[in-house]
Amino acid sequence: MNPRKLIWQIFPANVLTLFLVTIALSWYGVVALQEFYLHDTESDLEARAQLAAPRIREFLRDHRHSELKEYCIQAGRSSGTRITVIAPDGAVVADSNEDPGAMENHGQRQEIVEAFRGNVGVSRRYSKTLQENLVYVALPLTGIGIERDRGMVDKRADAVLRVSVSVAALDVAMQRIKTRLFFGSVAVLVLAGLVNLFISRNITRPLEQMTGIAERFAAGDFSVRMLPKVKRRASLEVATLAAAMDRMAELLDEKIAAIVSQRNQLETVFSSMVEAVVAIDTEERVISLNQAAAELFGVERGAATGRIVQQVVRNVQLQQHISRTLAARESVVDEIILQGEGGERYLQTTVVLLGNGAGESVGVLVVMNDVTRIRRLENVRRDFVANVSHELRTPITSIRGYVETLLDGALDIREDAVRFLEIVLHQSERLATIIDDLLALSKIEDRTRRGAIPLATGPLLPVVEAAAQTCLLQAEQAGITLDIDCPPDLEVEMNATLLEQALVNLLVNGISYNRPGGRVGLSATPGGEGEEGKVKIVVRDDGIGIAREHLPRLFERFYRSDKARSRAQGGSGLGLAIVKHIAEAHEGSITADSIEGKGSEFVLTIKGQKAA
Ligand code: ADP
Repeated sequence: MNPRKLIWQIFPANVLTLFLVTIALSWYGVVALQEFYLHDTESDLEARAQLAAPRIREFLRDHRHSELKEYCIQAGRSSGTRITVIAPDGAVVADSNEDPGAMENHGQRQEIVEAFRGNVGVSRRYSKTLQENLVYVALPLTGIGIERDRGMVDKRADAVLRVSVSVAALDVAMQRIKTRLFFGSVAVLVLAGLVNLFISRNITRPLEQMTGIAERFAAGDFSVRMLPKVKRRASLEVATLAAAMDRMAELLDEKIAAIVSQRNQLETVFSSMVEAVVAIDTEERVISLNQAAAELFGVERGAATGRIVQQVVRNVQLQQHISRTLAARESVVDEIILQGEGGERYLQTTVVLLGNGAGESVGVLVVMNDVTRIRRLENVRRDFVANVSHELRTPITSIRGYVETLLDGALDIREDAVRFLEIVLHQSERLATIIDDLLALSKIEDRTRRGAIPLATGPLLPVVEAAAQTCLLQAEQAGITLDIDCPPDLEVEMNATLLEQALVNLLVNGISYNRPGGRVGLSATPGGEGEEGKVKIVVRDDGIGIAREHLPRLFERFYRSDKARSRAQGGSGLGLAIVKHIAEAHEGSITADSIEGKGSEFVLTIKGQKAA
């Protein structure tokens, strides 16, 4: 059953109570009034009877019956009362209204029986003779027959005087009072009902208003307050309740604002974390993930939420760790390799249980730290150490071999000794080259990192000429022609010493990896469209060229496309690595292009332009 509105609980109950009270009061009033009136009539009748009694007693004693009758008729008429005199045998002796001879025996009438017993008899009856309600009072008449001794009281009456009066007037008056009472009650009921309705509305209206506002509270709208709305009509209790609810709303509002701001702070921390963080529920669905995670997995944050984790990250290792953490309730720390678009990514991954504060686990939290750069650096360092050791070991082994041979007796054969010592000299020169290049490289790297390489704007031509001069002798020996083409008005931002070294390295390579009669050209031009403010220095040769597969790794330390030739030429395998570092120190770039057997082209781009 649906609960009824409060007003329908208060109002009808009150009206019903009022109705019952009015009915009861009216009924009691009518009855009391009637009773009072009848009593009054009875006393009045008794008084009249007492007044008439001496005369009647006299007539009876003297047997003046016809005078008695006359008196009854007269007295009855003048007092508006019916007067009847009854003999002890019940026979009517005289009557004011009727002929006594025609009247029946009255011995059994209730009031007369009572009077013959010596008491005043009273009765209310409907008279068939007169067809109306009558009140009868009967008075015993004594001392009519033989004189009795004084003191000896014979209770038995000698006759009875009965007086009666019609109460029809009373009935009519009562009827009128009842009608008035009825209309009065109806009027009172209607009025009281209206007042009641007004009061009930006054009680329920504020409660209804409060309910409306409480519903808005429940919907999260705390902008309204109850007390100002209900203040005018509400009772103290309701106003107190409204004030309490307002206080509650205020507190809730503050609490919610605090929680929201706290959540926002956490969200900011969460999303600005470098580590990828993913929260996963017990059914292995993503609860939320931060920006770093979305970028790492290549998904939209919003789209990933709610999806099964396997759909977001396809990685068997990670799935195993999540399942294990959920099942065994213990954390897992491991490095996971994720195949991505940009190659492999190394992720230091921690999977921990996610609690809800009440000690229950609601899922797991995956925190991934991208350690790819560290791993790559470690690899580079490891390769570098291996490469350096290898590069150094070759000449050292060679030197040791020849020195041992010399000590073993070859020193005595002068020709051999000279040849071996020349080889030892050559190998030690190679060692020196490698160490010089290594030192140069680490110096450039170090200074670049510290920002300690000062750049200055100056003409390019002198630097190009100095580089060409350095290589001239080697070119002549190898039968190579050098062509230099550099406009004198080109100015670049450079560190002249380093730039010269880079150009020498490129020219030397062009000469070394070439054939007798070959050409090496160096040309410098200002950058074309889209490359304003830049200068391109191109070193081109028509030498042996480089196979395509070697091009991407050419600038790595110790990387050689043609190992045998490089060693024979006394190369360290570091020349191009040094060029690359010098280009970076100039905030520029170096690219290589080549066709095997036809020649190579290296383009160094740095900041610069034609002098104004
Ligand atoms: P290296 O000291 O061996 O010359 P570099 O770093 O200068 O070392 O060059 C790396 C490798 O690139 C060389 O070993 C060589 O195989 C190749 N190379 C460089 N320049 C040229 C070129 N101009 N023509 C052909 N191959 C070249």
